[in-house]
Amino acid sequence: MHFHIMTLFPEMVLGGLHTSIIGRAEEKGYISIEAVNIRDYTLDKHKKVDDYPYGGGAGMLMQVQPVYDCWKALNGRIARRRDDENNNGNIRVIYVTPQGEVFNQKKAVELSKEEDLIFLCGHYEGIDERVLEEIVTDYISIGDYVLTGGELPAMVMIDAIARLVPGVLNNGESAQTESHADGLLEYPQYSRPEVWHDKKVPDVLLSGHHANIEKWRLEQALDRTRTRRPDLYEAYITAHPPKPPQNKKKRN
Ligand code: SAM
Repeated sequence: MHFHIMTLFPEMVLGGLHTSIIGRAEEKGYISIEAVNIRDYTLDKHKKVDDYPYGGGAGMLMQVQPVYDCWKALNGRIARRRDDENNNGNIRVIYVTPQGEVFNQKKAVELSKEEDLIFLCGHYEGIDERVLEEIVTDYISIGDYVLTGGELPAMVMIDAIARLVPGVLNNGESAQTESHADGLLEYPQYSRPEVWHDKKVPDVLLSGHHANIEKWRLEQALDRTRTRRPDLYEAYITAHPPKPPQNKKKRN
């Protein structure tokens, strides 16, 4: 899978994503991550990419020309690599914005099925609406608060999506049992030592009895979700109603 980030701060996103698990996945060729500097495409002789908003108001807006030309060059390059010269706009362009739908694990799973994803990072007061209308396919937010730029949101989303790409995690199973994979938060986990600060690892985890361990983990996940995220718990219980007790057959 190939991630392409349109940004004014390439060093910021690459610095964050070229480390640890995601960095190793890139080295091994499971994913690729490139950052394209929007400023390289400005036709302004002073390399300016922003201007005052019409109608007044605080701050500056990123202008249409550098954003559009950057996207056009990038999209064309991806289409050529995919041997898809008349790419009909099927490379998704995600504008990371506090005005988008809120990102979650379900969205990460959906996006992880794409071959290429373009992330557009805004800065200042955002981007001129006209270029967004022309190139953006998805508006996605990482939460109901406002950051100074789209670089951190793009990094958050790429990290969450990339770890779902086959091969990126050493143990593919771990993504399936983690919080949010099935609508529940994950059960508590323990490692050595067996006793720490008088706190002992629950006996069931030392028992070697796999069925009991699974049962305990599900109970813990349900309990944790109910107390920490009642909204998720309600949704889970609605989708998985507890089975009614079986009626015992009457003997004649
Ligand atoms: N004026 C914009 C508004 O009120 O909607 C906010 C602009 S914000 C200061 C600058 C850039 O940061 C945005 O264009 C967007 O790319 C990014 N950004 C800020 N908060 C975000 C969030 N919660 N999720 C995703 N991107 C965000």
